[in-house]
Amino acid sequence: MLKTHSCGEIRESHIGQRVTLAGWVHRRRDHGGLIFLDLRDRGGLVQVVVNPEAAPEAHRAAGQARSEFVLQVVGEVIPRPAGTVNLNLPTGKVEVQARSVQVLNAAKTPPFSITEDGEVDEMVRLRYRYLDLRRPRLRDNLLLRHRMVKFIRAFLDARDFVEVETPILLKSTPEGARDYLVPSRLYPGKFYALPQSPQQLKQLLMVAGLERYYQIARCFRDEDQRADRQPEFTQLDLEMSFVEEDDILALTEELVISLVEAVAPGFRIIKPFPRLSYGDCLERFGIDKPDLRYGLELADLSDLVAGSEFQVFRAVLAAGGAVRGLALPQGAGYTRRQLEELTELARARGAAGLVTIALDPEGAYRSAAARYLTPELVQALAARLGASRGDLLLIVAGPRPVADAALSALRQELARRLSLADPNLLAFAFVRNFPLLEWRPEERRWEPVHHPFTAPVPEDIPLLDSAPDKVRSQHYDLVCNGYELSSGSIRIHQAPLQEKIFSLLGYNAEEIQERFGHLLEAFQYGAPPHGGIAPGIDRLAMLLAREDNIREVIAFPKSKSATDPMTGSPSPVSEAQLRELHLAIRDEAWPEGKNGP
Ligand code: ASP
Repeated sequence: MLKTHSCGEIRESHIGQRVTLAGWVHRRRDHGGLIFLDLRDRGGLVQVVVNPEAAPEAHRAAGQARSEFVLQVVGEVIPRPAGTVNLNLPTGKVEVQARSVQVLNAAKTPPFSITEDGEVDEMVRLRYRYLDLRRPRLRDNLLLRHRMVKFIRAFLDARDFVEVETPILLKSTPEGARDYLVPSRLYPGKFYALPQSPQQLKQLLMVAGLERYYQIARCFRDEDQRADRQPEFTQLDLEMSFVEEDDILALTEELVISLVEAVAPGFRIIKPFPRLSYGDCLERFGIDKPDLRYGLELADLSDLVAGSEFQVFRAVLAAGGAVRGLALPQGAGYTRRQLEELTELARARGAAGLVTIALDPEGAYRSAAARYLTPELVQALAARLGASRGDLLLIVAGPRPVADAALSALRQELARRLSLADPNLLAFAFVRNFPLLEWRPEERRWEPVHHPFTAPVPEDIPLLDSAPDKVRSQHYDLVCNGYELSSGSIRIHQAPLQEKIFSLLGYNAEEIQERFGHLLEAFQYGAPPHGGIAPGIDRLAMLLAREDNIREVIAFPKSKSATDPMTGSPSPVSEAQLRELHLAIRDEAWPEGKNGP
C-alpha cells in the first residue's frame, strides 16, 4: 500500500507516530516559509505542514502542488500549536509534519470547486461526474447506498432468501412502459428487450421451487424523465411462495424499519405502517401516494352544493363530476395575488378554476362567488372541511379525477409553502385494495392497474365476466412522504385464470401464446401460490439521503433528457455496426447540430 493510514482517521492517539498518507490536495496555503496542505482522501482530510528548513525536498514538491494534485506524504503526527486547533474537523487537534512529499500525479484546474459545496450547473457536474463524486455530498450518498444494500443482503440472507441474477437480454415484459430494445445480430429483424423488471423470471423461480428469492435488480423503462425517474433504476426485487398479502407486508415493514434505523437513525418513523385502502386515499388526499406528514385532508362537498344557485357547481354535478375541497388553516388573509397563484396551479392540473372562500376572523366571508353563496351554505361547507374563522376554503368542481389531481397538487404546494412536513419524519404507509383493471376510454380497452400477473381477490373472480371494473386486486403499494416506493402483489398461479386475464386485456390467442406461452406452460407444472414486492432502491436512498432527486444517489445517472454528458451517450454507431445488426436509420429525428430533447 502507498499509505499506512487514511487522512481522515488521524487523531491525538497517533501523536508521535510516523505515518504515510496518500490523497488529493484539498487546499494549499503558502505562508512564505511554511506550506500548509489539506490532504484529502475518501476518509476525510488532515493538515500537513511542510517546513523548508526541516525538509527542503518536501518543501520544493509541496511548492509545485496545486488543488487536486495527488500526493504521497510521509511525516510525524504532532499536536497543533495552541490557538490553531480546529474543532470542526475530526482531525483538527493534530497535524502531520512532513518529512517527504511526493507528487504522484498532477491535476488540471477542476471545472468547479471540489472544496466548496456551491451550486454548479448539473450538466457540468454530470460531464465531470468523477470530480463531483469527490465532493462530500455525493460521496456520502454513495456510502449510504452501499450500507443500505449491505444491510438488505444480510437481512434477507438471515431469512432464508436466495439471491439470483436474471438476464438483462430478455423479452419484452409488460410493466406498462416502453421497452428498450436490443437488435439481434444472429436473427435479422428480431430483438431482445431489456427487462422493465424481472417480474416473469421471479415468478418462474417460484415455479422452480426457490421459495424465497431476491435480487438487487436493474430495471429499464423508456419513459419521460422526472425527478424520481431514470431510464435505468434499481429495485430490491423479491418474491416468496406459499404466502398471503399480510406475510409480504409484514416482511417489508420489518425490513424497511430496521434498515432505516440501521443506516439513517436521524429519522422518525410512524409505526406500525398505516394501511390505507386505495379508495380512502383518493377520498382523503386525492392521490394514491399521499404525503402523510401533514393533514390538509380533502372532503367531498357535492351533496352540500347540489341545490346551490351556483350554475358552475350544478353543471359539473349534472355531468357526473364532483365538487371537492380542503381548508387551509389561517389562510383567510391570503392576498389576491396568492389566490391567483393557487388558481393557476389548479388550472395547470386541468381544473377549470378554483373557488376560494375566506372566513374572516369576525365571522363574515369573502369570495368571488359570494353572490351564489348563502351564509348557511358557507357554514355547512366550513363544517364539512373542518374549518373555522380565519381559515380559507379551496373548492374545485370537475370530473372527479381532475378535481382530485388539482386538490392534491394544492395540498402539496400549501404544505411546502407553510413547511408543514417534518423533514425528520418518514411517513410510510401501505396502500391496498386497488381495483384490478382500469378502463382506457381512448383505446377502448382494459388495462391492469398494476401488471397483468396480479391476482384478483378470489371472491371477485366471477365479476371478471360481468363487471371487470368491480374486481378488486391483491395489489399493494408502499408509499412514503408522497412517493411510491414499491408495488407488489399476490400473483395469479393458475394458467386458466392467467389466460383469461390476458384475453380480457385484449390479447388474442396467438398473441398470448407468442408473448406469454412460456409462463402459461410453466404454470401447468405445479406452480405454487406466490407473491412479492419490489422496493425502489434509488427512491429510498433519495429519501434517506434527504435529496429531492434520484440522480443524486446514483453514481453515473442520465441527465434530465436521458443523456450521459460524460461519455456522450446515446451516440451514433458506424455503418458497419448497423449493417451487422441488419438495421438502417429511417430518419434523423434531430437536425444536424441538435442533440435531441
Ligand atoms: N415487478 C413489479 C414492478 O416493477 C413489482 C412486483 O410486482 O413485484 O412494479
